[in-house]
Amino acid sequence: MRHGRIVTPKDLPERTARLLKALADLHIPVTASQEDDEAARLKVHTAGFLHYLSTAWERWQALPDHGPEVWPNTFPYWSGRPEDRARPDCPAEHILAQTGWYLGDLSVSLGPDSWRSIRASANTAVAAADAIAADRGVAYALCRPSGHHARADRASGFCFLNNTAIAAQRLRQTFDRVAILDVDAHHGDGTQQIFYSRQDVLTISVHADPANYYPFFTGYEGERGTGAGDGFNLNLPLVHGATGDAMFAAVDRAAEAIRAFRADVVVIALGFDTHARDPIGVLKLESADFAGIATRVRELNLPMLVVQEGGYAIDAIGDCLTAFLTALS
Ligand SMILES: [Zn+2]
Repeated sequence: MRHGRIVTPKDLPERTARLLKALADLHIPVTASQEDDEAARLKVHTAGFLHYLSTAWERWQALPDHGPEVWPNTFPYWSGRPEDRARPDCPAEHILAQTGWYLGDLSVSLGPDSWRSIRASANTAVAAADAIAADRGVAYALCRPSGHHARADRASGFCFLNNTAIAAQRLRQTFDRVAILDVDAHHGDGTQQIFYSRQDVLTISVHADPANYYPFFTGYEGERGTGAGDGFNLNLPLVHGATGDAMFAAVDRAAEAIRAFRADVVVIALGFDTHARDPIGVLKLESADFAGIATRVRELNLPMLVVQEGGYAIDAIGDCLTAFLTALS
């Protein structure tokens, strides 16, 4: 639903096919995660939210005259304040009540295979985190659906489980200090919320100015963390129309903060919707600019987990990934 209209979805399965092809062309071996790790999900998300996601489709089928997808038609009050933590579980039992409580907007409809995909995406991030915990190298998690808009208790913006946050939390088993750098075009609002009061995970997001761009309500420079996490969140909004140079300057600032934090490992939340041809984008990067981002993060010389977030220009995303991974290695 966009501007009052049902529109053609932008997050298409073809995205994954294009990214897999880029990996094959680079001769990068691909492995599928084998384990379904519920414990890893529970370390980041609330039990009520996970129970909802895992049962919603089946319960929706029991509604009289149910539609083809699970969609909310109630919207309980939510302040949008970044310091607000996870809410208590939904007090009501009805599927419509819980759908309003747990699905934050109209971009996160659920179908018969959604939970399987959502779980597989999170499991992929966990497996990639375990790989770099073992070899201290570099791994890329080809996640779909994306994760960085998912809060501890709320899906939104094409995101259900926060793959990046789940992976970062997993890395804390091995590393003391984890830095997350989100370079998707949209503010990583879910990731920010999950770690907002913590000092062991530094969260940095470079994104298009949210005053006129999703997710609108967060992503401003004044959001620095709260309590023990005060000073451990950094937002670097870019003016709409910004090109690679503005992104590079922001990544340089982020790298400086990651060094000052003395991070042991870095998680890159990598979106390609900063590309000039992205159908929902407002920034103007070219495919080759992703090499410039990778060069800068490589200079940190730390173990690195790259988690796929957004990017919807089907004909460009393979080139973006190729440029990024080639420069990273
Ligand atoms: Zn995005």
